[in-house]
Order: sequence, then C-alpha cells, then structure tokens
Amino acid sequence: ASAASVVGRFAPSPTGPLHVGSLVAAVGSYCLARRAGGRWLVRMEDLDAPRVVPGAAADILKTLEAFGLHWDGEILWQSRRAHVYEEALAELRTKGLVFDCGCSRKEILASAPHVGEEGAVYPGTCRAGLPPGRRPRALRLRVPQALMCFVDQVSGPQEQHLATAVGDFVLRRADGVFAYQFAVVVDDLASGVNQVVRGADLLGSTPRQIYLYECLGQAPPRYYHLPLALGADGEKISKRHGPASVAGLARPAQLLCRVLEFLGQNPPRALADEPPAEVLTWAVSNFDPACIPAAPRHFS
Ligand code: GLU
Repeated sequence: ASAASVVGRFAPSPTGPLHVGSLVAAVGSYCLARRAGGRWLVRMEDLDAPRVVPGAAADILKTLEAFGLHWDGEILWQSRRAHVYEEALAELRTKGLVFDCGCSRKEILASAPHVGEEGAVYPGTCRAGLPPGRRPRALRLRVPQALMCFVDQVSGPQEQHLATAVGDFVLRRADGVFAYQFAVVVDDLASGVNQVVRGADLLGSTPRQIYLYECLGQAPPRYYHLPLALGADGEKISKRHGPASVAGLARPAQLLCRVLEFLGQNPPRALADEPPAEVLTWAVSNFDPACIPAAPRHFS
C-alpha cells in the first residue's frame, strides 16, 4: 500500500472527559496517521448506554479541537449503527460461527475452567446447542483450537491461544448491546481503517479481533499498542485519578509536549510556548515510531 493510503483513528468511549491515557492514544494515532500523509478518523464508542455519561462526547470533541487534533470526515457514532452490526452478525451466522448461549455470568464463573487475564474462560456449555429448558441470552462466536499470532509494531511478536485464554466470546450481550470486540472490527472495516493505535491495555483483545477479521474474510490492520500511562501511585491512569480532564492539567501545547516525551519523542523545549498547532506540526514531521517504548511508564 502507498503511504498516502494510511487510515488511522481514535475511538474514545464517552464515559467521562478525556484523560491522560486517552490523550496519549489520540496523539499517537494522529501522528502515526498524519506522518504517512494519511487520514485520521474519530469514532465515539457509545454502545454501552448505561456507561455513557451525558455531555462526555461533546466534551471530548471540544478538548481534541483545543489541542489542534482535527479529524477527517464525520464522527462515527456506534449507537447509530445497530443495522450494520446486525448485517455482519448475519454473515457470521450464515457461516455457522455463531451460537445462542443461555448461561448467566454467575453460571459461567462457577464452571469456567479458569479465570485468566481476559476474565472467565467460557466453559463451552451451550456450544453444541442450548441445553433443554434454556432460553437464549447472549450470542457467542465459536473460537478454534488455534494459536493467534501477530506482530505489534511497538511490543513485537504476540501470541494467544484463543480457546484457552478466552473461549467462545460474546458478540451480542444478553441485554442486546453489541460487544466492543465485535463493533470495533465491523466499524474499522467499514471505515477502511488499516492502522490501529491504542493503549496496551487492549493487547489481550487483539487476537479476538484478528480472529473476527479472519471470520469476515478480511485482512486485519497494523497494530501499535502504546505504553500504559501510570499515575504517581503506579496504577494505570484512569478516571479515578484527578483532575479528571486533561483540559484542566496544563496548557495544551505544554501537555502535548509531555505526551510526545512519554511516547519517546524529543520535542525541543521552546515548542511548549508555541500554539498547539505548532507542536503537532513538529510532531508529524519528526515522529519516530521506533522510539516508542513498550513498557508502562509514569506520566510526568
Ligand atoms: N473505546 C476504547 C477505549 O476507549 C478504545 C477502542 C480501540 O481503540 O480499539 O478504551
């Protein structure tokens, strides 16, 4: 593919204002798309209605604009795309890859072979058909006894045995909400995204997503999993860490420079006093992916 055909994206969940961890993903995905002359899209992952915080999406978009992170085209709102997910689901059903599951979370926890890094491994209870007297709840994807391998551009070669690490996983939850793993793949495919840049907390989800590409007969994107940002307490930075919004932390240009340093880049000191657009211009022409560290690190 020519360099100009790169399509990247930033896919925040509007469960609160933009925090440092998500700003890192925004800046990293932006620089890695723009340095290749590519497009950079924004998608709101607002599928999980109970977790969506009113006003958070607008707040995130306003913050991106204040940082000079301008996106291409229309924002994609996952909450408006149920028909697209239904279609992809129909394709997987036709291929015999989907089954109805009647298990409750409690039952799965009680009979899971083990609870791993990715949660309770599905014990396979309904794989061969709903047991008598059961009504369908979630829809699951059958996973093979196969090792999923991929090369992350930051962390190097990765592998996961889907069946033992995760098991048959949920595509549509019992409450009718489409699962993140499924929606993210359907949407990235629909938008032509070929470069996914996001936090390392999603490394363990990537094999499931790559398997979904395979089931849909498509090639997966290239992946960059950025180091996790740790707070002073050594914990992953999340909404628990105040101040909740990056908007209140520092001037945008200053904070952009700190994010670039966090990503192993070396912005000249004087840049912090320039407008954010200047920092991003420097970043796009000087960003070196080979310098991104893989290990979690403190955000200072
Ligand atoms: N919405 C996810 C999050 O905020 C990111 C999904 C992705 O980049 O694949 O953690």
